[in-house]
Amino acid sequence: MPELQGIGVSPGSAAGPVQRLAPPPAIPPRRAVISAEDEKAAFRAAVASVSADLTRRADTARDETAAEVLRAQVFMAEDETLVDAVLELVDAGADAPRAVTDALAVHRAAFEAAGGYLAERASDLDDLRDRIVAACLGLPMPGVPDPGHPFVLVARDLAPADTAGLDPATVLGLVTAEGGPTSHTAILARTLGIPAVVRCAGILDLPDGMLVSLDGTSGTVETGVSAGTAAGVKAAEVAARLGRAASTCPGRTADGHPVALLANIGSAKDLTGEVEGVGLFRTELLYLDRTEPPSRAEQVAAYRSVFTALPGRKVVVRTLDAGADKPLPFLHMAGEPNPALGIRGLRVARQAPDVLSTQLSAIAEAAEGTEADVWVMAPMVTTPSEASDFAASCRSAGLRTAGVMIEVPAAALRAGAVLRGVDFLSIGTNDLSQYTFAADRMCGDLAELLDPWQPALISLIAACAAAGAEAGKPVGVCGESAADPHFALVLAGLGISSLSMAPRSIPAVRESLAAHTLDECRQIAKAALAADSPESARAAAYR
Ligand code: PEP
Ligand code: MG
Repeated sequence: MPELQGIGVSPGSAAGPVQRLAPPPAIPPRRAVISAEDEKAAFRAAVASVSADLTRRADTARDETAAEVLRAQVFMAEDETLVDAVLELVDAGADAPRAVTDALAVHRAAFEAAGGYLAERASDLDDLRDRIVAACLGLPMPGVPDPGHPFVLVARDLAPADTAGLDPATVLGLVTAEGGPTSHTAILARTLGIPAVVRCAGILDLPDGMLVSLDGTSGTVETGVSAGTAAGVKAAEVAARLGRAASTCPGRTADGHPVALLANIGSAKDLTGEVEGVGLFRTELLYLDRTEPPSRAEQVAAYRSVFTALPGRKVVVRTLDAGADKPLPFLHMAGEPNPALGIRGLRVARQAPDVLSTQLSAIAEAAEGTEADVWVMAPMVTTPSEASDFAASCRSAGLRTAGVMIEVPAAALRAGAVLRGVDFLSIGTNDLSQYTFAADRMCGDLAELLDPWQPALISLIAACAAAGAEAGKPVGVCGESAADPHFALVLAGLGISSLSMAPRSIPAVRESLAAHTLDECRQIAKAALAADSPESARAAAYR
């Protein structure tokens, strides 16, 4: 069986049966109605099988909230008004898929008109429609599959919300045909500790159930492996995980120069094992899929659960990073011709200042009475005045330590001026690459431009580190490049003081730093900076 090659984006190995994520079914152009009775029977059978599937999922759901949503969907599927509406449409000449689509569109409009909780449930109706239509057409169920056993999830690509709901106990690995190394799918896979490969041509041709083994570092996927090989891969991965979890000492070079190794998290759930602290708390996960922003009380609870878990340790909270590849319905930002260059990150506060001020005061309230060392930073800052305005807002909310992310080349080029108004910088190399190389971070075809070893990116990081050294203020890196054990040597050599990454990437970075002195790191950084291609920069570090 052939070996497929993609880009490894979340380390670790996995093996198991393929289970494909089916896309929502396309409603076919009105199909010739065989007979109204056949269409009605197809609809009834589809409702019965969808209800049975949802009930089974509800009975085995990990938490009660998820179970309630699923039971509510069963209730809606079997609702008499809906059933009658579909049957009437069939009597009027529609086929079952069209009748279901039209009847549920009426329900959806009513939910939206009712507002509040019901409006938030409108997307559940879309999911229900897709499920019933797929069952009517004999297509696989859309969404993350639940075959009742662990599997390797295969998809064209995943929406952030799909990935956020993945259970690492059942999703052994993840392989997508599209996506890029810095896409949110890749980031969430790393956060969840699920080995993942993206841009893997040919993966969608594999049938459900075929045993595959994947390597989330090299990006290879072996297809049609034997059950014995799959069992061996699983055992080796468990042993590697235990080994990695064992080492928790702080980051330092061989000669003792400290480089804090911090965790990137989306919620308290991601805090697996001991960490020195959190260098990037991505708060937008709390806002995903919402038609209204989370209430202040809900935010306080979410932030406090992280702060109380880390007494005496640093937690860098990033304020809402919405827009571009993280659209949020309640901000009504649709229709921008070029969203990555539009109202995103801190710029959202220009249009919705309350969202930022509520968030800052919720962070301050959550920090009260906890022993965490709470730092706050804003994403997508471009000018020194944006930075100092943000710091002023933090201070008036009672937050002492305010910083900004460096994701825009303009801010990197003027890092010294930006630093004058804030206490620290944190370089987001994912976006800094995207904006420096004019290369969409979601575009796997441009992966070589998004390579952190690109010397132009290294120059911008060096400029920020130098500004930090001059001002005596810390400059960290929290983009995905910090998780590369060799690139970490370059960063340490440039004078970066903390590296923040998915928790499972920390042990390999710790080992790499511990094997090199600060002077060696400086030599490596100097050679990488002098290189004129990513290949020669890498060669400098691997010598
Ligand atoms: C980055 O851009 O490097 C970063 C850490 O932010 P995000 O990936 O959440 O945009
Ligand atoms: Mg970013």
